Amino acid sequence: MAFIEAASPHTMNTYGRVPIALSHGRGARVWDVNGKEYLDALAGIAVNTLGHGHPKLVPALQDQVAKLIHSSNYYHVPNQEKLAAKLSELSGLTNAFFCSTGLEANEAAIKLARKYGHDKGIEAPQIVVYEKAFHGRSIATLSATGNEKVQKGFGPLVPGFIRVPMNDIGALKSATEGNQDVVAVFFETIQGEGGINPMRAEYLQQVRQLCDERGWLLMIDEVQCGMGRTGKWFAHQWAGIRPDVMPIAKGLGSGVPVGAVVAGPKAANIFQPGNHGTTFGGNPLAMRAGVETIRIMEEDGLLENAATVGAYLKRSLEQELGSLPGVKEVRGQGLMLGMELDRPCGVLVNRAAEAGLLLSVTADTVVRLLPPLIFTKADVDETVTKLAPLVKAVLAE
Ligand SMILES: *Cc1c(COP(=O)(O)O)cnc(C)c1O
Repeated sequence: MAFIEAASPHTMNTYGRVPIALSHGRGARVWDVNGKEYLDALAGIAVNTLGHGHPKLVPALQDQVAKLIHSSNYYHVPNQEKLAAKLSELSGLTNAFFCSTGLEANEAAIKLARKYGHDKGIEAPQIVVYEKAFHGRSIATLSATGNEKVQKGFGPLVPGFIRVPMNDIGALKSATEGNQDVVAVFFETIQGEGGINPMRAEYLQQVRQLCDERGWLLMIDEVQCGMGRTGKWFAHQWAGIRPDVMPIAKGLGSGVPVGAVVAGPKAANIFQPGNHGTTFGGNPLAMRAGVETIRIMEEDGLLENAATVGAYLKRSLEQELGSLPGVKEVRGQGLMLGMELDRPCGVLVNRAAEAGLLLSVTADTVVRLLPPLIFTKADVDETVTKLAPLVKAVLAE
């Protein structure tokens, strides 16, 4: 048995980790270094879109690694253009900038909004953000984040954000009334880290209309809820709206770090040479991963799978656990689901791992399931069979 140290003497103490180390995976299964098998209902936090060791992705990435991993943005990267065109087709937007992570995509969005304002003569642009939002851990994105735990110890925060509650158009209007410095409204369609909290379709439509009336950019952080997870390419598409700016990342490269900010006509030409850039963003390996991930998702019908298997998972959780007094709600869409309990339930992460199931708990009380989009109904049955007794035990304590 390989012993897993609780803390390493040389890596910084940033994560409260589950005491296992994963060695390899296949589909929705992973094995740890001691050979124990797990069903993966977390997908590396909504990252491993195609699961593990996908038979179509692996040879494509092997081919790319052997050809060219990185070349820098001094030169054209043909797959950047290919992936940007594909993302435009899927989103109805027009231009993409590539980076490597979610926070970088959000940083680019914040910079776009600020320059959008400056180009209009607004010297101190302000961006509307939301309670319980999560946008990343850089100084600007943690300032946009609506969670004091994330911000604590890192002040002074970046100014220029106005915070409002979700799903309340009146609150948005009164918080911005008469304010000529507002340039953008920025939110997740379904808050991920905040506890799987969806924006209502009607609210999304109202905000779209308000942004049009006021000349604001509508910026939707689809880093977690995008890339097919909810059963549409991007979660806001369920409401029939289109943002002006859309940061994405997590699932885009099925495990290879790929981020992008995708923009429509109002924001696509704001950046000019010298305004923004990154060394790793859009490199040949990352772009191949993005292109192939989307191709395989289309070939294998994974949007439909996310929608139907996700609906089955939600129904199964509701049937098995939904009527227990301690279970407040099962919510979310497709394969982005949260089950809120009436008490903190962080212990479930380790207990589920012991039972051979990988999941997360977020916002203290919400069991979060983000399985790979290849998840099957049999995987759902196994998830619920493993999870149900653990939840019942927590509620009995
Ligand atoms: C994870 C996440 C981020 C940050 O992404 P990183 O790649 O960790 O920087 C930003 N926004 C949302 C909605 C996320 O879920």
